[in-house]
Amino acid sequence: MAYDIMVLGSGPAGLAAAVAARSRDKSVLVIGNPWQDSPLARAEQVDNYPGLPGRTGMELLEEFYRHAENAGAEFVVGKALSLLAWNGFSVTVGSQVCQGNALILAPGVVRSAKYPGEAEFLGRGVSYCATCDGMLYRNRPVVVVGLAPDSPQEANYLHSLGCQVVYVSPRQPQGLEDGIPYVKAGKLAVQGGQTVTGLEADGALLPCAGVFILRRAVAPTDLLPALETEEGVIRVDRRMATNIPGVFAAGDCTGGPLQVSKAVGEGHVAALSACEYLDHQLTKERKETHDPFQQGDL
Ligand SMILES: Cc1cc2nc3c(=O)[nH]c(=O)nc-3n(C[C@H](O)[C@H](O)[C@H](O)COP(=O)(O)OP(=O)(O)OC[C@H]3O[C@@H](n4cnc5c(N)ncnc54)[C@H](O)[C@@H]3O)c2cc1C
Repeated sequence: MAYDIMVLGSGPAGLAAAVAARSRDKSVLVIGNPWQDSPLARAEQVDNYPGLPGRTGMELLEEFYRHAENAGAEFVVGKALSLLAWNGFSVTVGSQVCQGNALILAPGVVRSAKYPGEAEFLGRGVSYCATCDGMLYRNRPVVVVGLAPDSPQEANYLHSLGCQVVYVSPRQPQGLEDGIPYVKAGKLAVQGGQTVTGLEADGALLPCAGVFILRRAVAPTDLLPALETEEGVIRVDRRMATNIPGVFAAGDCTGGPLQVSKAVGEGHVAALSACEYLDHQLTKERKETHDPFQQGDL
């Protein structure tokens, strides 16, 4: 089933967008890490959100989440790994593919400083998704760069496929299978020729055919390379429309001030603009279906 609107990100901007889109009776799917993952959850006290002073960030987030849920938004909890903009939008979360006719990006600030060689070898040995690409490396040596809480599970999955896995991370992993060697390292560089041949980890070379770089979130520009940015943030107009038709953006991802009230306001505007876009598309389709000149009847 294709939802009217897919929202990527379950922080204040994404949840506000979901509430606003539901108030226009659109079907809404919110895709995101658990809502507790928003940086707002770390705020001990939020005093500048109108009408609700003194709440903790966690309390505010939970109220936003319950509001969106009660309004009828649906949720898929997980990391969006890939995005296809064709005939609407398809987003992959684990092994699940979600579809929508309009898309609102609300991923917050995704820190995506890349390792040397990462962008160069993306798709030629570098991958962000063990579930999507693991089979390509069956029985071959791979390195997992574990930067997210679920990275050990992803490494275990690759191991179960028969990949010879080495796990690299600055911190000791929890839940890594015994058969997987762990290398503590932080300074990394991908090496290769036509394709990846190894990963340099704190000066030592780990030969491999694939490098899985598993961060907490995939940046929107990695999901949608055609997305235009300006000084590192997604470029939007006053309707929160991006340069890609049907794609809107809201919250910290569009730049400062990095504040809840700005994120919520932008989420609201993005949702109304997405609804307008969908209604316009529908009118266009109806016109085309009923226009005898378009049908070639005359
Ligand atoms: C310690 C702290 C205190 C703060 N205090 C205040 C305050 O008092 N007042 C105030 O106004 N603001 C405060 N802020 C700022 C506020 O938290 C942010 O401005 C706000 O959370 C931005 O909301 P957002 O929805 O744009 O993004 P976020 O809250 O960052 O939410 C985005 C969500 O999308 C998820 N996501 C991103 N990419 C993907 C992907 N590929 N797949 C799945 N999920 C993804 C992220 O994991 C995250 O959960 C504080 C921030 C911090 C860190």
